[in-house]
Amino acid sequence: MALAIPPQSQDHQPGVEKVMRPLAVHIRPDYKGSGKLEGKKALITGGDSGIGRAAALHFAREGADVSILYLDEHEDAKETVRLIEAEGRKALAIAGDVASSSFCNDAVAETVKTLGGLDIIVNNAGVQYVSEDLTDITDDVWQRHMDVNINGYFYITRAALSYLKNGSAIISTSSINAFAGNKSLVAYSTTKAAEMGFTRALALQLADKGIRVNAVAPGPVWTPLQPASWGPVDPQAVAELGSDTPMGRCGEPAELGPAYVYLASADSSFVTGQTLHVNGGKIVNG
Ligand code: NAD
Ligand code: MG
Repeated sequence: MALAIPPQSQDHQPGVEKVMRPLAVHIRPDYKGSGKLEGKKALITGGDSGIGRAAALHFAREGADVSILYLDEHEDAKETVRLIEAEGRKALAIAGDVASSSFCNDAVAETVKTLGGLDIIVNNAGVQYVSEDLTDITDDVWQRHMDVNINGYFYITRAALSYLKNGSAIISTSSINAFAGNKSLVAYSTTKAAEMGFTRALALQLADKGIRVNAVAPGPVWTPLQPASWGPVDPQAVAELGSDTPMGRCGEPAELGPAYVYLASADSSFVTGQTLHVNGGKIVNG
């Protein structure tokens, strides 16, 4: 079942799907929807590709209309829109930088206007720059991690909150690196841990409104982020992705999507402030 991934690299972030070898799988052809999100409206940042696209396609198959936000990967966004529409649902794609609060405000407003409401948000857009030595991290690189991975989650959630109601769900994509750390990803791990604090505190704040706030903490997953972050440093590291997990492989985005369906739907109605670890079997605290 392990993916055969040849060494490879993409030269800038965000990476793109179409040059990945092999291409990633975002939803199992035999995944059957059962109306778990019928009529819901969802917004997913970084929804053009990778884990965000997987969440988008699973939501659509479960009956939701979906708005995807992305930075500038127009081809990936177009394909995700096509795939959402092929599920018979409404799709919207909005390009821009989640590090800008005004972009986030506008994108949420456009989503609400086009889809006719908002029930689910998935904070998922992220950057990851590899550095073996803390002293090599420039102010700009450190700040970019904070701006996208933390501020972006805050701006989108703040803009969306007045539209959410009893039964709504907020889901954040964190990472195993928030729990286990990663010696080559200090800035990134810092932001992923901050997202956990955000999730837990906001869950407490919103519990009595019936708005649930949870996180998914993926292990290594085959997405454009991998060749675009590890590739420029060491293309061989891309080929070895996931070999250190108990299952000895990385995951496909299709193996993440159902976790988002669970946290977005009434199936998890008694679950808030929690984290789902979808990581190939690594035992982590929390
Ligand atoms: P991906 O490249 O498919 O998705 C990241 C997305 O973030 C991109 O599609 C891009 O459009 C968006 N993005 C980046 N900067 C942005 C900006 N400034 N404004 C708006 N959008 C921006 O890769 P992915 O692996 O699916 O990443 C999704 C999330 O999963 C990230 O938060 C990442 O940290 C997390 N994650 C990934 C893995 C993994 O192994 N792939 C593991 C743990 C956590
Ligand atoms: Mg992308």
